[in-house]
Amino acid sequence: MLLGSLRAIFLGEVDVPAAHREAISVARRHAFHALAPMAAIHSLLNAVVLTAAFWQEPTMPLVFVWTYTSAVLVFIRMREAKRHVPLADCAAEERRIVRYTLFSGALWGAIIIALMMSSGPQHMLLLGVLTAAILCVGALLHSSFPAASLGYSVLVGGGACIGMVLGGHAWSASAMLLLAGCVMALQRFAANSDTNFVRRHISAAALTEAKETMSLLLNDFEAHSADWLWRIDAHGRLGQASQRFIDATGLPADILEGGSILALFAPESAQQLDTVLKQKKSFRDEVLRVQIGGHEAWWSISGQPTADGGWRGVCSDVTRSRDTEARIAYVTEYDSLTDLANRAMLVRQLEIAQEAAETRGEGFALFVIDLDNFKALNDTQGHPAGDAFLKMVAQRLRDCVGPAAFLARLGGDEFAVMQRDMLTEEAAELADLIVDALLAPVTINGKDILAGGSVGVAMAPDNGTDPAILMKNAELALYRAKAQGRGCARFFEAGMDEVARIRADLETDLRSALAEEAMDVYFQPLVNTRTRKVSGYETLLRWNRPGHGLISPALFISCAEETGIIVPLGDWVIRKAIEEAAQWREDVTVAINLSPAQMKNPSLVATVVGALAASQLDPSRLEIEIVESVLMDETEHNIRTLHALRELGVKIALDDFGTGYSSLSYLRAFPFDKIKIDQRFVRDIDTSTENQAIVRAIISLARDLKMRVTAEGVENEQQAAILAGLGCTEVQGFLYSRPVPASELEKKDPAARQSASVLHMRRRA
Ligand code: C2E
Ligand code: MG
Ligand code: MG
Repeated sequence: MLLGSLRAIFLGEVDVPAAHREAISVARRHAFHALAPMAAIHSLLNAVVLTAAFWQEPTMPLVFVWTYTSAVLVFIRMREAKRHVPLADCAAEERRIVRYTLFSGALWGAIIIALMMSSGPQHMLLLGVLTAAILCVGALLHSSFPAASLGYSVLVGGGACIGMVLGGHAWSASAMLLLAGCVMALQRFAANSDTNFVRRHISAAALTEAKETMSLLLNDFEAHSADWLWRIDAHGRLGQASQRFIDATGLPADILEGGSILALFAPESAQQLDTVLKQKKSFRDEVLRVQIGGHEAWWSISGQPTADGGWRGVCSDVTRSRDTEARIAYVTEYDSLTDLANRAMLVRQLEIAQEAAETRGEGFALFVIDLDNFKALNDTQGHPAGDAFLKMVAQRLRDCVGPAAFLARLGGDEFAVMQRDMLTEEAAELADLIVDALLAPVTINGKDILAGGSVGVAMAPDNGTDPAILMKNAELALYRAKAQGRGCARFFEAGMDEVARIRADLETDLRSALAEEAMDVYFQPLVNTRTRKVSGYETLLRWNRPGHGLISPALFISCAEETGIIVPLGDWVIRKAIEEAAQWREDVTVAINLSPAQMKNPSLVATVVGALAASQLDPSRLEIEIVESVLMDETEHNIRTLHALRELGVKIALDDFGTGYSSLSYLRAFPFDKIKIDQRFVRDIDTSTENQAIVRAIISLARDLKMRVTAEGVENEQQAAILAGLGCTEVQGFLYSRPVPASELEKKDPAARQSASVLHMRRRA
């Protein structure tokens, strides 16, 4: 224990790890040899001083021998210092150094003994100083080998002690004590400096190793990663640039290195990076726009401050993912066809406006625009024409609403405009401007197409501030505008809410009625004016709506049409009516009403064919009633469908004739089998000569076109008589029968009982 402590104090505390032993040995020898010139000077100085001091003395020959031997030793040391020693010979070399040191210590010890023994007091000061100097310089010169240094000091110090004792000098004991203290202190110094030397060496080696590992890792990173490293000094100047960095910038290394990192970026990104760097904190994934000459890219850059006040970090090119992100953002926020914002983006703008309305009371207006003729155009002219049309309408709206308004496409042919800070009067003006802008025809494929649009307006905060509520209210106003004849603008009014709720209830009930088959088909006879016999029955849909009783299609057909329920419902009517008719007398026809929405259904003809086939009904006994609007919308497609039905043998009748816009041109558009004069003209026929004239004209026109004529809504004998007198061949109305369920019809009624049957029905009605 004591020995261990002494050893640590005088020989050093560090156990050299095996891995460093060889390197430290080399380093120690280097350090030792590095001091060879100093050792030589020291020896030379001593030799000169001793020669001068003992020139006249009898001990001079001894001094001479010592000087000579010492010179040989210096020569050996100098030569050793220059010699390259192979690694394998380390231990031998160390041993040589130790031997050399001990020998030189012994040489000093010997000469000091000899000189101290034989010298008088006049030389003692010199010899004392000499001993101290030799010990001090020796400890310095041999500090890299503490054991050798200890041996050296003991030999020198011991020599001095022996010399003093043998010379019988005064104060020898005290001088020896001082010497012992000096040797111990010097040895402690040598041991300590060796300990530090070894520690320094180990930590330097560890650092080198860490650097090497790091550089290996970095090389690997550079070689295998798409990212690159960057480094700047405290002034933001780029350090050595890797090849990948050079490639990424497209700048030569000599321009890049030493240049400002900020110069690589676009002004706003340079500003962003500068702010981040000034915070002197690590940062991650700052996405910056690079602008070098004409080259543009996006980099994601991370960094951390270094001890010297600079920065280092990694950088990667994120241009592609950013482009993708931007594309995704674009797709999620914009409509790619018109380049207008989409619904989601509009909602976001409405939310911003909502906040302004709620915090600062700023009002804003929301306009919802629906094009009137788009669907027909899309179906008849094809989608490319439809797309071109929408683009042109979008541009027209853009020009009309100006840059301050926010314009969006909600989907299909629906657009919206949001304008902040707007009064009701200003909104009314803008709504009219929009309607006017859409009035002018749009030229597509050389053809002028009427755009036409309806506008619904909701005002915030009067009609709400919540985007969903405003949107709903604007839609309600739009709905009203469309219902009032399209091509106009309407503002939201409180009552519209209630209307919408009623309609929503109707839709729900209608869907469940369809699912539960809670509908029924009723039939109303068509009577031949001459024979007064039933020539056929018109199918009229009835719905026993819970809580409302039996209701007329007039109340729900438009809802069924708008919601698309009409298609399955209409198919059901077709099947049901044909199934019934198949049980009737063979000369009795069945008429079925088809709405425009049903005509669009591509499987309509197939449904009719399927129902006829299933019931074995002769197609010529089936009559399809359509209204004029079927010929207004999607004309070509509808006319094709009508022809397809006609080719089956089915008859086609034009219902409610006289209520449409340009009735005569529709008569030319398709060779109808029959025209049904609307009950409006029949109602007052007994009193209004004008109506009589109209009916007369229609009948003669029909005759010219070889079409039969039926008058609807005949309620009294007088009307029936006038119509018969005007040449109307067929009548229909409450006079003969109200619509009745199939169970109340006289099925398979023999011709002889037909008139009785009509009378029977009249009584019931
Ligand atoms: P519409 O095809 O013109 O049918 C004639 C309407 O006039 C029927 O009304 C009928 O009840 C009514 N009516 C008949 N005679 C008289 C009369 O003497 N006086 C009066 N005031 N009215 C009379 P309804 O049944 O309410 O049907 C209304 C409309 O609903 C029908 O007009 C037709 O366009 C449509 N509709 C009826 N059933 C269907 C259906 O199954 N499918 C389709 N798409 N539409 C249908
Ligand atoms: Mg009808
Ligand atoms: Mg009618």
